Amino acid sequence: MTEPVVVVGGGIAGLAAAWQLKRDGMPVHLYELDERVGGKVRSSEFAGQVVDEAADAFLARVPHGIELATELGLADQLISPSARKAQVWTENGLMGLPEPHVLGIPLERASAEALLGVEAADALEADLARTEPDPVRDDDTIGSLVRRRLGDRIHEALVDPLIGAINAGDTDELALSASSPQILAAANAGPSLIGSLRRMKAGSDADAPVFHSFVGGMRVLVDALEASLEGNITTGVGVDALDRLPDGALRITLSNGEVIAAPAVVLACPAPAAAALTTQWSDASTDLDAIPLVSVTLVALAYPTGTVDVPSELSGFVVPRTADLRITACSYAMQKWPHLGGDIDLLRVSVGHGRDQETPALPDDQLIAVILADLEAAIGITAEPTDVRISRWEQGFPQYVVGHTERLGHIEGQLNPDGVFIAGMGYRGIGIPACIDQGRSAGVDAILHVLEHRG
Ligand SMILES: Cc1cc2nc3c(=O)[nH]c(=O)nc-3n(C[C@H](O)[C@H](O)[C@H](O)COP(=O)(O)OP(=O)(O)OC[C@H]3O[C@@H](n4cnc5c(N)ncnc54)[C@H](O)[C@@H]3O)c2cc1C
Repeated sequence: MTEPVVVVGGGIAGLAAAWQLKRDGMPVHLYELDERVGGKVRSSEFAGQVVDEAADAFLARVPHGIELATELGLADQLISPSARKAQVWTENGLMGLPEPHVLGIPLERASAEALLGVEAADALEADLARTEPDPVRDDDTIGSLVRRRLGDRIHEALVDPLIGAINAGDTDELALSASSPQILAAANAGPSLIGSLRRMKAGSDADAPVFHSFVGGMRVLVDALEASLEGNITTGVGVDALDRLPDGALRITLSNGEVIAAPAVVLACPAPAAAALTTQWSDASTDLDAIPLVSVTLVALAYPTGTVDVPSELSGFVVPRTADLRITACSYAMQKWPHLGGDIDLLRVSVGHGRDQETPALPDDQLIAVILADLEAAIGITAEPTDVRISRWEQGFPQYVVGHTERLGHIEGQLNPDGVFIAGMGYRGIGIPACIDQGRSAGVDAILHVLEHRG
């Protein structure tokens, strides 16, 4: 009888890895340091509703989230945002994002001009007129590529706030190849970035849902995974050490003092924890430790119904880093997800990004004061919220800086031959579908390793 493959960490990536291993008939056991699984997927009671403390939805454009939900029997519970239009903060107040756009990049001259003026519109025309290819460079960041092709204005006013909000990052630091595969593909697909994005957009269904979630929050997915893995999960017990013995076996020391053996291990814990567990593979450990992280704080605010007076088709707004506000994004949760409405107006506000690590670390009272001042400036709310919840995600967002993909190559080159596989937001995608995909792939890799090395 094969010893179970060990999965370290019960976030969505670790749960997906364990699900894959179990489904494929491989013995598996997952250890989660916290008392609960879910990691950064956390939905809890707030103002009489179940409200997500971090992710409130996952992308529908990539298949991994929907596929897993379907396998777990949750397909008929998927919901999509009711309000789909977002705004951006400008020197003239809140304005609609240009229509159409891809990740903030306007695709039509008129909408670029209306929002940002003639210069930005001319930059768009110049890109469309380009006939010579401008190959993406290995060290291109999202910022360097968009600034070179479309100018600073489009980048700073639109692309940075939108993509920066997804990654909590500074898009002048984030590697294009690792952080924005969509723009990378478009930039490589022809001389004109706008031309390629237009073709991509034309090939997609404009009415298809962009995001999915569940009434009951993203926790529904985690709960279903936990239930399906009954008997395969231990919570409240972390992995303290991982060693490779001379005969090639992997030895795992648990935080309760127990020592166990495993034929393969999936490290689905954050990169710093993975670094601490891989000191025997010293280069991999150093590389894992070198992945930068930033902190983000997400604040939920409840008001009596009617306090937040914004058009019903709007889901919220994002704020450029260059602006005079310190919040980075605000979601009108009661319009995005009407089941959260009831007798409250509910806002979810984010602070913190690559260039601002001060605001998310402010003490509660100062943080709330900053947020209320920004909300008054942006949407004119002067009322005090009836409930406030602060969710701090310290060092919660890995940053895929230039060299990230090469770094992953080194890490995996050291760990994989010994049956150690990495998965999760630190590596090949921040979003929940990407974490699910990584977890499942690591599960398959672990199975192949076990089959190959079985005596
Ligand atoms: C504020 C915020 C908003 C977000 N919004 C969205 C969104 O709208 N849509 C979206 O798709 N994604 C979003 N994300 C990203 C997404 O939620 C994460 O990328 C994903 O949940 C990470 O999953 P993971 O399994 O990689 O890591 P984690 O969730 O961090 O799980 C790792 C687990 O490992 C455990 N662990 C650590 N050390 C050990 C050890 N030694 N032994 C055992 N266990 C250990 C931890 O306790 C943790 O439970 C958001 C993230 C944040 C923080």
